[in-house]
Amino acid sequence: MPTEPELFRARCGFEPLAIGYGGLYKTGMNYTRHSEGIDQDIDPSLDLEQEIARLKKEKNAIILAHFYQVPEIQDIADFLGDSLQLAQQAKKTTADVICFAGVHFMAETAKILNPERIVVVPDLEAGCSLADGCPVDAFRAWRAKYPDAVAVSYINCSAAVKAESDWICTSANAVRVVQAIPPEKQVLFAPDRNLGRHVMKHAGREMQLWPSTCIVHETFSERKIIDLKERHKDALFIAHPECEPAVLRLADYVGSTTALLRFVQTQEAKTFIVGTEPGILHQMKKAAPDKTFLEAPPQEGTCACNECPHMKRNSLEKIYLSLRDLSPRVEVPEQIAVRALVPIERMLSLS
Ligand code: SF4
Repeated sequence: MPTEPELFRARCGFEPLAIGYGGLYKTGMNYTRHSEGIDQDIDPSLDLEQEIARLKKEKNAIILAHFYQVPEIQDIADFLGDSLQLAQQAKKTTADVICFAGVHFMAETAKILNPERIVVVPDLEAGCSLADGCPVDAFRAWRAKYPDAVAVSYINCSAAVKAESDWICTSANAVRVVQAIPPEKQVLFAPDRNLGRHVMKHAGREMQLWPSTCIVHETFSERKIIDLKERHKDALFIAHPECEPAVLRLADYVGSTTALLRFVQTQEAKTFIVGTEPGILHQMKKAAPDKTFLEAPPQEGTCACNECPHMKRNSLEKIYLSLRDLSPRVEVPEQIAVRALVPIERMLSLS
């Protein structure tokens, strides 16, 4: 199994500078954002929203977008959701083309569910630290050490890892998936150790955990959240289960992105400190315009924001180009897709 510094190098692309509380501190991040990386000119007089709408009609395409996308992408999406909802929607679609505004593993899942349809992404480089932190060869070697165990993989992993797994889960259904496994079976859970710990607590069973983390959710600062709670005594702190255990212990509510969105609408509280990627605030503000949403602060020595650098690679310009050129396409080799479909379908049949 890779060591923590090896995982860090794989997911961040540079040397870890220090190991401290909550994992490895990161500095020196230099992300490509928004429309950087487009190597062709786009007529600046184009009304991109209008052009995208025209292209969608012309190509019988839909746009699926994740809650962590920038607001202008969320606003043009045909369907907006978390990983589970997007997978469900991808399974239902009759469109010829799916433009997936999210990250690579999500588009791969859509392709596995729709081998006959074209799946394009705005930016092929939009990856995920969790997926990158779980290379398939290392995962296979880990599984081989526990030949009788059942392997549950969080949907944030590559198609190749999905193909080696017995179950796929999302943060919305992970507890239910693990509870569906016979109690006498040993369970391996990959790649997010924080979600794994959360599931162990709520499903009431031990599991072997892969050691990856999300570079966004591991950066929230326990101390700064305590300070913020002190200053906003009536605020509720809500968090995604990918956060570190010390941060989750402070939370008034822990749930998937959709569950967090639902929670803020059903509570009487007027202020919420939100411990997940801030893209979700756009929908929270729309759903509860009379409420206040504060971003949970990150640790010192990080990139000083909680935005996912992968999700934020996408832009309207790149969506326009991907629909116009039907490129870049996401492809999954057939022998992997056929095997990966089994645990994905198993999850969807439970949801
Ligand atoms: S927020 Fe974290 S888990 Fe989600 S895509 Fe970004 S790196 Fe991956």
